[in-house]
Amino acid sequence: MALTARPSASAPDISIYDRRESQVRSYSRSMPRQFNRAEGVWLHDGNGGRYLDFLSGCSSLNYGHNHPELKQVLIDYISSDGITHGLDMHTDAKAEFLGALEDVILRPRGLDYRAMFTGPTGTNAVEAAIKLARKVTGRELILAFTNGFHGMTLGALACTGNAGKRGGAGIPLSHVSHEAFDGYYGPDVDTAALLEQRLSDPSSGLDAPAAILVETVQGEGGLNAASPEWLRKIAAIAKKHGALMIVDDIQAGCGRTGNFFSFEGMGFTPDIVTMAKSLSGMGLPFALTLIRPELDVWSPGEHNGTFRGNNHAFVTATKAIRHFWADEAFKSDIARRGALLEKRLDRMAKEHGLSTRGRGMMRGIDVGSGEIASTITSACFDKGLIIETSGAHDEIVKVLAPLTIEDSVLESGLDILEHAIRAALSPAYGVAA
Ligand SMILES: *Cc1c(COP(=O)(O)O)cnc(C)c1O
Repeated sequence: MALTARPSASAPDISIYDRRESQVRSYSRSMPRQFNRAEGVWLHDGNGGRYLDFLSGCSSLNYGHNHPELKQVLIDYISSDGITHGLDMHTDAKAEFLGALEDVILRPRGLDYRAMFTGPTGTNAVEAAIKLARKVTGRELILAFTNGFHGMTLGALACTGNAGKRGGAGIPLSHVSHEAFDGYYGPDVDTAALLEQRLSDPSSGLDAPAAILVETVQGEGGLNAASPEWLRKIAAIAKKHGALMIVDDIQAGCGRTGNFFSFEGMGFTPDIVTMAKSLSGMGLPFALTLIRPELDVWSPGEHNGTFRGNNHAFVTATKAIRHFWADEAFKSDIARRGALLEKRLDRMAKEHGLSTRGRGMMRGIDVGSGEIASTITSACFDKGLIIETSGAHDEIVKVLAPLTIEDSVLESGLDILEHAIRAALSPAYGVAA
């Protein structure tokens, strides 16, 4: 397979979208093409263009597009008239998914969680998590963090930091306090200690929280990676103050940061974990809220949903778990590729006096402003590389390549990025120097 991306020179007629699709569309604006096929790390448009995908459905395609083994089990399942929709009834596909989760993921890690199938989007898994925390503790307040992103429905949106997203709510977003994430005030301020001080002070004005909701690496909020020490402190603070610790692993999980869960090996166990994005392995809608068994106080149907459990996603998720996570091979591939990515981004950062963010295969480079970042991502797109931005000002160019990408293809995409950064920054850098 050729390594090079080959974008189409001319854009197709996409006027139907202007006429008939809501203005709310977003990614399609910076990629004015019409895609018709995808395999592995490549997206194809109908004009012979081929694009290297460093966005991966915002980390919903960690195993690439249409992975052959996942595709085959789904084709076989549909061909044999397997259940497509069954509300939350018992099905073979669900039993097999729960079995794989237990055998391959939970047991070897010494984790004991029950799986709550929510509506199939990440935001619904977050809604379920915060509802449960409020029900279990009888408290209202959720502590979330600066630059956190947890979804677009009202409860999850209240936990989200971004003002532009919050503005869409149209009503007050309440019962959440946003605390300073690790490093928010710079490397010398221990924000966990500040939080502990406020929670321990009966006159701080901060109510006792039902839960502390955190991403270990902030996907949309700028790829800020919390240190294991800070996360351990947050877990201890939650415990001390009778709050549940919820890790939102929707973007950082499923291998993105190196392990199935982003918090593995850090010395704490969340009470609740939310998963979605790459969980199905194929980009199918599927979300899960994992809860410690003693917290499972739901009444039947108390958090309901017509599409709880997507049987096609059960089938592909089961295959993804068994194929990628049954031994250490995939983990060591991610570690190697993550190190390669880190090295290349560090080199780019050093050349231009910039800084990098992130962990594992979830990394980015802070180019200083959203304007510069958008110049860079547009230049990449013109060379056939799909790459997006993150952060409060969209100032972080983020690399979310499929975890299965060949090292040489990863390098070829990073070459495109390196040139685009040089083209965008070298004149300004020359003036500044
Ligand atoms: C994407 C994301 C969500 C929301 O998931 P949707 O499927 O878009 O509702 C929640 N939390 C995090 C960390 C995410 O990255």
